[in-house]
Amino acid sequence: MGLKSLKLLVSIFAALILGLLAAPAFAKPAAQGLRVAEHEQRTRLVLDLSAKAAFATTVQADPPKVVVDFGDIDWAVPPAAFRRPTGLIRKVQFEPPARLILETARPAQVSKVFLIEPNEQFGWRFVIDLVAADASPPPPAASPAAKAKSAPTQAAPTQTPPPPAAAKTAPAPAPLTDRKPPAKKPVIAIDPGHGGADPGAIGASGAYEKNITLAMARDLKDKLEAQGRYTVVLTRDRDVFLRLRERSAKARAAGADLFISLHADALPNPAIQGLSVYTLSETASDSEAQLLAEKENKADLIAGIDLSHEAPEVANILIDLAQRETMNLSAVFAAGAVEELGRQVRLLSNSHRFAGFAVLKAPDVPSVLIEMGYLSNAQEERLLRGHDYRAKLATGLARAIDRYFEARRKTGAR
Ligand SMILES: [Zn+2]
Repeated sequence: MGLKSLKLLVSIFAALILGLLAAPAFAKPAAQGLRVAEHEQRTRLVLDLSAKAAFATTVQADPPKVVVDFGDIDWAVPPAAFRRPTGLIRKVQFEPPARLILETARPAQVSKVFLIEPNEQFGWRFVIDLVAADASPPPPAASPAAKAKSAPTQAAPTQTPPPPAAAKTAPAPAPLTDRKPPAKKPVIAIDPGHGGADPGAIGASGAYEKNITLAMARDLKDKLEAQGRYTVVLTRDRDVFLRLRERSAKARAAGADLFISLHADALPNPAIQGLSVYTLSETASDSEAQLLAEKENKADLIAGIDLSHEAPEVANILIDLAQRETMNLSAVFAAGAVEELGRQVRLLSNSHRFAGFAVLKAPDVPSVLIEMGYLSNAQEERLLRGHDYRAKLATGLARAIDRYFEARRKTGAR
């Protein structure tokens, strides 16, 4: 062995040792991303973590700040992650070795602080919700209809926020599985696409999309109500025209925890068939998805309503981080729906796609749009007109809904 190969060996060893030092086995949790969003009455900060982290929170009144001490953490959040004051949070600072300081505009309380377990899409997340110290606690939800979207800010009874007057260290909360979410049924909003003057797609033998979607919505409602675990609302239960934004507004007003918009497209090529699930994205996953979104978004033009003036608002919502968290949850539900529906019916290839559907733009309700199949395909049109096929779709969707809310319950979230 020459000197050259010895040098090579040494450098390989050195690389191996360095690699081991950097390997996850040794790694403490790293904070990799940070998002702050202002919700109705709370300011939510989310940290993306590479692993589970212990933490304790402290509230100080003068100057007002909330301090989060992590057991041990690496700070790898880009400085640009928090650029301007948002909600109650004026400034975010990391103080080595493991302290996160949130300077607040006024004295604040911690209304909720918890970790979210990793799922198919995301790793560990640390979430802290702040409310103004002088804010009165939101009233308890009386009925599903009265449920406000601020409900998630309500602190569990065991989690009294520390008084803002003096610095006080609160212990890290109990394991998430010990916490009981409110025993209230999740609200599912089902949105039968089109209606009234807008028939939607027209099938190979003349079926109207608006009728297929309404029939499916009713079947799914019956199925879910028979299970007794959900409160179900339909955005329309008859043949009426609704603006796209009215649909998501109705879902929000009902306090929906999940919004499912049902559609059935038609294409020039009658051979194409299969179901696909869409979620909102700033950029469409492909040109077909883009075209479909444009087509569905035209529903408002049919009734002569110009949506163009709403574009800047929609754009703002899109970049809002609250929307981003909702988009994450939508994607989680969509992934489960593709899997469960795939056991029941034929899927389009690449069955989870992304595009800018106006109907999915409620900033705080996880939402998906399901194209149940192609009415331009004679076989699928026949199937969608029949109760048996719709029963299969209802079964798949009900399982996907169960799966989604079970996972949500496990994290203590709703
Ligand atoms: Zn449609």
